[in-house]
Amino acid sequence: MKKHNFYAGPSIMSRYTLDHCVEAIHDFAGTGLSILEISHRSKEFTAVIEQAEALFKELLDIPEGYRVLFLGGGASLQFAMVPMNLLRTRAAYLDTGTWANKAIKEAKLFGDVNVVASSKADNYTYIPKGYTVPADADYFHITTNNTIYGTEIREDYDVPVRMVADMSSDIFSRPVDVSKYDLIYGGAQKNVSPAGVTFVIVKEDALGKVDRDLPTMLNYQTHVDKGSMFNTPPVFPIYAALQTLKWYKELGGVKVLQEMDELKARVLYDAIDNSRLFVGTVRPEDRSIMNVCFVMKPEYKELEADFLALASERGIMGIKGHRSVGGFRASLYNALPLESVNVLVEAMRDFEAKH
Ligand SMILES: *Cc1c(COP(=O)(O)O)cnc(C)c1O
Repeated sequence: MKKHNFYAGPSIMSRYTLDHCVEAIHDFAGTGLSILEISHRSKEFTAVIEQAEALFKELLDIPEGYRVLFLGGGASLQFAMVPMNLLRTRAAYLDTGTWANKAIKEAKLFGDVNVVASSKADNYTYIPKGYTVPADADYFHITTNNTIYGTEIREDYDVPVRMVADMSSDIFSRPVDVSKYDLIYGGAQKNVSPAGVTFVIVKEDALGKVDRDLPTMLNYQTHVDKGSMFNTPPVFPIYAALQTLKWYKELGGVKVLQEMDELKARVLYDAIDNSRLFVGTVRPEDRSIMNVCFVMKPEYKELEADFLALASERGIMGIKGHRSVGGFRASLYNALPLESVNVLVEAMRDFEAKH
């Protein structure tokens, strides 16, 4: 049976990426060796990492003066590396959920953290607005897509300081004005590659401004200087990332991805909004186009397990909501076809007709 993969991360990859990965596992770039067993210093792999950086820059229209790094440690290590490298005295953070909170916790180890606003009291069902970012902050940190709660910031804010953003789960879902950011990072396992690599887009002249001593591996400058090859980088996930980026380019780039993503989200949100049983969990104006969170209305709550059972009968995978929200979460990452959303919507309608 065809499976429809709505997992939140690691998550669906395109057929294009998977096929090229399989090929390279057997014979990488005509070397007669597997991508898994070749030196990261080989000219074939050097070409891969250079192309991956170049395509990242091209697709996101990244201005001069920025580098794209491919590191280990996940987005979670960036929660610490960012303040370690960029926080001199004070940084501003926006608290929009679990991941933002984890970033705030790490930043507090390195300086004053001003949490300018939080939607925690309402279980993160909206993106706070109307706060001020202090002009003396070293940076303002945002989490553009809140993977767990299903809210998203789909614009590049105008604030008096430069921004840092965790874009783990919505990179390549819209054009980004990178020039407003000192740094953008993310675990690649949602919209880019399998788990194991973290992307970091960093403005070179944002570095070198802190006084503290930095461990070599935790200093962005190390990786800037060595083109992410100071030590052995995550070779295979970087190869996979390059395939995904090539596929994005073939499809027509980020604007095309944005249209596809917005259409998928609209189809599912419309089904939720027109349903007797289901209801969305977040404020409509802050809804994520990547992670759609919904529950059964209180009077039908006991039907949630039955709907999960029907979904799984139809090959719909990974829609159980995160435990902090409950209900359902459908992740509509770039590689998910519209067809899968239609199958989910049909399952919702059929379920509704029976109850
Ligand atoms: C998945 C996710 C993370 C965690 O990424 P790891 O690579 O597992 O550390 C952080 N932030 C956001 C927004 C995420 O979606």
